[in-house]
Amino acid sequence: MLNPTRLPVLFQSQDDAELARREDQEWASLLRNTDWDRFEKHERHYYLALAHHNRIRVRSQVPEVGPEPKREAQERYLLDIVEKRRDPAMFVEIPQFDPDQALPAVSTMLSGPGKPPMDFYCMLAAVLGVIALGWPESPETVHKQLHSNPPFARLCGFRYSKKADREIDGLTAKHLPSLSMCGKFDEVMTASGLWTAMNLDKVRHNIETGVVPLGKMLAFDTAHADAHSSCDRIEVEVAPGKKERRNIPKLHKRCSCPASERETCPHPWEPTDRGAAVVVKGPTRIHWAHKASVAGFADPGNEIPLDVRITNYAATGDGDTLDPHLREMVDRFPEIVGVVEAVLADGAYRSQDNKRAVASLLPGATLHVPIPSHKTGQAVVDRYRGIEKFTPAGVPVCIEGHRFKMFGRDVIGQMYCWKAPDGEDGKPICGSCPMRSQCGKGQGRRRTLRTRRAEFPQIDWDHPQHLVRNRRFIQRRTSVERMIKRIKVDLHGEIVTRRDANRIQAHFDKRLLVLHLMLDDT
Ligand SMILES: [Zn+2]
Repeated sequence: MLNPTRLPVLFQSQDDAELARREDQEWASLLRNTDWDRFEKHERHYYLALAHHNRIRVRSQVPEVGPEPKREAQERYLLDIVEKRRDPAMFVEIPQFDPDQALPAVSTMLSGPGKPPMDFYCMLAAVLGVIALGWPESPETVHKQLHSNPPFARLCGFRYSKKADREIDGLTAKHLPSLSMCGKFDEVMTASGLWTAMNLDKVRHNIETGVVPLGKMLAFDTAHADAHSSCDRIEVEVAPGKKERRNIPKLHKRCSCPASERETCPHPWEPTDRGAAVVVKGPTRIHWAHKASVAGFADPGNEIPLDVRITNYAATGDGDTLDPHLREMVDRFPEIVGVVEAVLADGAYRSQDNKRAVASLLPGATLHVPIPSHKTGQAVVDRYRGIEKFTPAGVPVCIEGHRFKMFGRDVIGQMYCWKAPDGEDGKPICGSCPMRSQCGKGQGRRRTLRTRRAEFPQIDWDHPQHLVRNRRFIQRRTSVERMIKRIKVDLHGEIVTRRDANRIQAHFDKRLLVLHLMLDDT
């Protein structure tokens, strides 16, 4: 009988070339067509980070901070959250490295004694390929795909024969990696900030080469990803007589002391999933999750997410994320300054602080957010002759049922100016209106109307949403939802397999990278 756990033997096949040519195999064309050489500097940084990781792991010990009962540690963690709620450092910190740093060549770095490390490009292709295949890229999945899908492994550059290993440059291993090697690759890439750096490099390249055209509208929104962890409900006194009750991640210890000594041993309690919190999306939609702020150009035909940032504390208000994220966007993509005319977001982002932030960070641009609708009282309606009602958005509707069109404002009189629409023949509909005798307009003339600013708080005085030039901004606002769908649904970003906010950041950066590699490919 065949041994079911036996590894498959990989062999070269004529079918591989055929497979890579097929248009419907996106993962195959991604692996085949990507210009991997552009990640050469990241390769050097990876081997440097790997050497550092190996050194640290040998020496590392869990630090000793003194004994602390679990309950006290939980209360300390919660107080920390309450204090840091308005912390300006809202997003996960990503290790930075100097892209222009002169590093020795890979051949010099890897020429020493010892086992060769797994090949960077093969491992990179395997992780990105698994994402393009539509799987969560946990080490288990990457390992399973490589060991059970020979064409996939071959396209990633792996070889079965150990003898062939050192043949090409003699420095890196290209045999199929073990499960722990898959885990280590992802961990080193995440801890050194390389996923973010590679993603940023690729997005910048796509903007510079016109693959992603510079847009005039920049949309922001938040998305959540259900956390792969559970929580404890803790109550703590934040001020005399004032208690705060919240869910916090469960705490654990990394040391190997026996369970009975956990309360008294000197090692620190640490959260099992840093950054996760309760995210409320609606009255019945409450999630234990991480929160991401997503940004991208909202222009038609260009709904590509550019940047995703994970918050340090998922229960952060949506509107609070705009200022720090816009700051980072301007820093990362300085070419948007002077080009972007409008920043679009939903109602949660409506605040004077956000308006000011947009005006100061992007001179010439304005923030467009929807204003809650407002019912107009009958007393107000009665004041306007020939008007039946006002819509919740403040648009007048006449007794014949025609919706008026805004054509401007009277700034001195603080009034909105409306006119009756044209009929199908291009002439004002008032000309043939049977109700014109009750409307106060003479034969054939168009009815106009001026409504008071103070009576219509649902209209944005600075940028009235009913003016044609502003209406397109409001209509494009939902494009950010399609961007989020590309990451969360198309690339299965909603399935989080790792914990801690910095790994969630890497989780989204990998998907953005795959998306932008695929764009460049087509
Ligand atoms: Zn311990």
